[in-house]
Amino acid sequence: MSKKLLLKDAHIEGIRYFDVYRKQGGYQAAEKALKMTPEEILEEVKTSGLRGRGGAGFPTGMKWSFLAKPEGIPRHLVVNADESEPGTFKDRYLMEHIPHILIEGIIIASYCLGSNASYIYIRGEYSWIPDILEAAIEEARNAGFLGKNILGTGFDLEIYVQRGAGAYVCGEETALLESLEGKRGNPRLKPPFPAVKGLWERPTVVNNVESIAAVVPIINMTGAEYAKIGVGRSTGTKLISACGNINKPGVYEIDMTITVEEFIYSDEYCGGIPNGKRLKACIPGGSSVPILPANLLLKTIKGEPRYMNYESLSDGGFATGTMMGSGGFIVLDEDQSVVEHTMTLSRFYNHESCGQCTPCREGTGWLYRILKKIVNGEGEMKDIDLLWDIQRKIEGNTICPLGDAAAWPVAAAIRHFRDEFEYYVKTPELAKVKPFGLAHYADPIPVPAE
Ligand code: SF4
Repeated sequence: MSKKLLLKDAHIEGIRYFDVYRKQGGYQAAEKALKMTPEEILEEVKTSGLRGRGGAGFPTGMKWSFLAKPEGIPRHLVVNADESEPGTFKDRYLMEHIPHILIEGIIIASYCLGSNASYIYIRGEYSWIPDILEAAIEEARNAGFLGKNILGTGFDLEIYVQRGAGAYVCGEETALLESLEGKRGNPRLKPPFPAVKGLWERPTVVNNVESIAAVVPIINMTGAEYAKIGVGRSTGTKLISACGNINKPGVYEIDMTITVEEFIYSDEYCGGIPNGKRLKACIPGGSSVPILPANLLLKTIKGEPRYMNYESLSDGGFATGTMMGSGGFIVLDEDQSVVEHTMTLSRFYNHESCGQCTPCREGTGWLYRILKKIVNGEGEMKDIDLLWDIQRKIEGNTICPLGDAAAWPVAAAIRHFRDEFEYYVKTPELAKVKPFGLAHYADPIPVPAE
């Protein structure tokens, strides 16, 4: 049984409301933190080893320590709730069911960073959640945890909820800041980084919802105790949103010591694959991370079990590994077509490109159109090489990571499923038969034994 820190009270009726949350020990971490110095809180977060839960996995304590502190200039904390990566819906669950853990985390982080006005930027499609957050903010204010002179400490804090307008790119921190300032959500050139010039050119820390919520158990239990959970540099717990061909889609909290196989097949988590189908592939960290075929997903290239943590998932680099990313775990069974799946993702990234840089603006369109051509049975063998060439010219050559996010799925699909692309070119009429199925392969991909 995995240890639960963030979702431990998720089953309790009414946990969305202040009184119930408080009864379960809620806001004790805030009370404790407000008696500490900001430096002591920062030290706890550093000691915990917490890594950003939005996708990049950058150490949170280190990010906080980069915040510039020029005299007389306000600083801000901005919570990134623009959760738009296909397959990722863990922050939605947290905000919808346990909003006070986020509010409490914001109070602690804001006090540590010296922010008197903090923001939650939430994707517009989560249309019902801002009301939940605002109700929680109001409850916290009425209980004296927000507003002026919180708990008599002299610390003031207001939290504002801002709805986005539905652009994936606004999950990129500088595009988010532009949007929050009321402008078009175009990513900024870096440097300067937000820690120096962020919101309204003031020093700003942008953190994911789950990262900020994790600060609550860290303060409650101490950073050293938090660091004992998990393994290696994958400390604490991680929320995983699981979907696709599994029996139990949903949001799970894991302690990063379990294997991928256990996560997919155990009844505690995904509960296996429906209808006795075999596992074909998985995208374990949200749609932008590389897809892995079943054989490489369950075991590393060294033949060791693959674990649900940052190090193990990335073992082997992109040649044979992938990434933890945001924890959006998408499972494909043997009937799924990787080529069509990749085309769908390419359409998404092309649609979401802001258009500022040529490799992304033009390249994502090329990727989508060529993939569509192949899926429609009009592909040529040279198109596969062209796809490879285009994705290489996008990766690393753009202002923001959306370019990489568009390139990586195509690269990984060709790297691991080139025979499937060739099958589409050679036998277009058969490739269109649904479900696609492993039986269509002349040379079936390796799948685990029954
Ligand atoms: Fe815009 Fe794409 Fe360039 Fe990012 S990579 S700035 S989304 S054009």
